[in-house]
Amino acid sequence: CKDKGRNNYCFYNQDMNQSEQEVLQLTQDLRQALSGDQLCLHYQPKVELKTGNIVGAEALVRWQHPQRGWISPVEFIPLAERAGLIVELGLWVLESAVSQCKRWHELGYKNLSVSVNVSAIQLRRGDFELQVKQVLSQTGLSGEFLVLELTESLLLDVQHSLQMCLQGLREQGVILAIDDFGTGYCNLGYLQRFDVNMLKVDRSFVSKINQSKQDEAIVRAIIQMAHSLNLEIVAEGVETEEVAEQLRLLGCEKGQGFYWSRPCPPMDFIELVVKSSA
Ligand code: C2E
Ligand code: CA
Ligand code: CA
Ligand code: CA
Repeated sequence: CKDKGRNNYCFYNQDMNQSEQEVLQLTQDLRQALSGDQLCLHYQPKVELKTGNIVGAEALVRWQHPQRGWISPVEFIPLAERAGLIVELGLWVLESAVSQCKRWHELGYKNLSVSVNVSAIQLRRGDFELQVKQVLSQTGLSGEFLVLELTESLLLDVQHSLQMCLQGLREQGVILAIDDFGTGYCNLGYLQRFDVNMLKVDRSFVSKINQSKQDEAIVRAIIQMAHSLNLEIVAEGVETEEVAEQLRLLGCEKGQGFYWSRPCPPMDFIELVVKSSA
């Protein structure tokens, strides 16, 4: 084991290549991170385009590794999924984000909602609906202020149990959003099958709508479809004022992106809220 200084058990196998060993090590470290205090949530504002008001935030998990520094969720979420740690991690994210949102309400910002990313593995476990119910009732937050962000591929699963789970969540008032909309499969049947409330247009379409006629046409079509199906629409990856303005002209209600703010610690987020509502 290269990392002799640490007292955690290190699995070594001659047949494993360097990167496999790294993955194993990182997975072990993630196990520790979950029991320690290396994980935190950052919040990225969701903004109403008409008014510029902050209406909520997406919770995004961050890992400060003791040796490696910040590691991106793009790297460690897939590890957590493979190692079965995502259920524990996901529950921690849900609890933290929901209690944070409750604190915003207690501070007087009673309209703010919080969005949480949900992995397919969490949803398939069978007790997810109950977890959400318990977290909401323990925190005292009403379900309408919790948005669950699901991916399209997750909804291709036509199992009856998934349908029951999503229906149960809707009965608790929870908002269901499709994340990265447009990047998945072109089978939109799930929009009828499930009571989805919101589409988040992927940033690959959004970020250049002011330069690309094609991207603009795609975003325009998505917005029109969303409106005729009574779905709320949020554009991701808004980086410039021009893009924000164009989205507003296209009739998009909400946006999220570096133009307003990067994901930031809760203290910085509430400062932005105070400023935006002043
Ligand atoms: P996502 O759900 O699509 O989240 C949006 C990602 O885009 C975030 O990356 C955010 O920082 C980034 N972003 C926001 N605005 C802009 C912008 O204007 N320009 C650009 N270039 N990027 C922008 P982040 O935080 O690195 O998260 C990456 C992915 O990791 C997320 O993508 C999500 O799939 C996953 N993830 C993060 N937190 C969680 C979590 O708690 N649970 C699960 N299951 N997945 C998570
Ligand atoms: Ca998301
Ligand atoms: Ca997304
Ligand atoms: Ca994504």
